[in-house]
Amino acid sequence: MKNILLLGATGSIGDSSLSVISQNNDLFNLIGISFNKNISRCEEIISNFSPEYIHASDKETFLKLSNMSGNFLNEDSELEELILNERVDIIICATSGFSGLKAACIAARSGKKILLANKESIVAGGDLILPIAKKNNTQIIPIDSEHNAIFQCLSGERGTDDVQKIIITASGGPFINSSVIDLKNVTVAEALNHPNWNMGSKVTIDSATLVNKCLELIEARYLFDLDEKYFELVVHPQSIIHSVVTYIDGSSICQMSQPDMTVPIAHALSGENRISIDFNSLDFTSLNLSFQEFPQDRMEIQDIAREVCRNGGFLGTIFNAANEIAVESFLKNRINFDKIYEVIYRTFNNNIMSNDLTIESINEVDQQTRIRAEKVVESITN
Ligand code: NDP
Ligand code: MG
Repeated sequence: MKNILLLGATGSIGDSSLSVISQNNDLFNLIGISFNKNISRCEEIISNFSPEYIHASDKETFLKLSNMSGNFLNEDSELEELILNERVDIIICATSGFSGLKAACIAARSGKKILLANKESIVAGGDLILPIAKKNNTQIIPIDSEHNAIFQCLSGERGTDDVQKIIITASGGPFINSSVIDLKNVTVAEALNHPNWNMGSKVTIDSATLVNKCLELIEARYLFDLDEKYFELVVHPQSIIHSVVTYIDGSSICQMSQPDMTVPIAHALSGENRISIDFNSLDFTSLNLSFQEFPQDRMEIQDIAREVCRNGGFLGTIFNAANEIAVESFLKNRINFDKIYEVIYRTFNNNIMSNDLTIESINEVDQQTRIRAEKVVESITN
């Protein structure tokens, strides 16, 4: 029996993880969870899974919970102790956004198995987290579907030595067939209406702008330790093929499934043997798969992501923070959809020295970038 600590348990990846855990309750025990404010979902999880430890980052939420019986935690130091608790075997990092960075850094030094969904932590702090994980023999298994697909396509090979190219597929989101200039007046509800995936709001907007694919390019560069030029971003609207690895002998291996996050999570949770879950089979006779190029009018954002991949350091922190402020501003109806790109372009700054990479310096650069991005938002709204 493996004890699982699920960070971001009340979210969409949290839900999918709980589904896989409950379908395999002879193999996995939910020992602890973390979340921010969603108290009603937290109560449901407590009644269904009885985790021993519950960490709520939000103080008010914590105070409300502490009237109930249970081991409720709120301090950062308590989350650190929980991540490093020797009874925890597997840590699922499924908090959204930059707020997951600190926990991901602690998990990286735990020497345990980490299942990583929180791509922003790798984008913002890849040059910090990956070396820590390597030094401590921490195994990072991606559950972002494309990266899990690449991981599966690479298994049984000589690392990445024989890889010629990796295609990361993108659904393209709801607006893939429109130009950015036609997207000025799309509503938040339209942007949140993803054709294939049901996800948290931040990643759904990232998917609609295609910034998600750019974050994933950076995530892949770090997780597979390959130069950005190995990766190609290709739009595949059906989200059935999650990525493709082409080897130097001309073979291309892909991983396919319905767009359902329980599939990569089940793979990542499995050990030597695969674990069983309920899933919708692919009906190959009715599949109609298509592919198209990454849209030209969104190439500038891909170029920035490639620059982040090449130079690393704080560049990912800046790219991520600019995007988080832009997305938040769109979700609050402060800026139009097309202005998300403008906020990133005007905030991104590649003139920053990236020595002294620590969690503190990354936090500092994140904060400064948020202030700059906020000023850009204000200049757009005024
Ligand atoms: P959600 O918004 O659905 O859930 C986010 C989770 O993080 C919630 O449990 C939330 O708590 C918690 N959280 C948010 N802010 C904080 C904070 N400051 N401190 C502590 N906890 C916090 O996101 P998703 O599940 O969609 O995504 C999670 C991560 O996985 C993201 O990085 C995303 O990019 C990635 N991902 C998601 C996919 C998906 O299908 N959803 C696919 C691939 C990757 P509360 O509910 O209380 O606010
Ligand atoms: Mg993905």
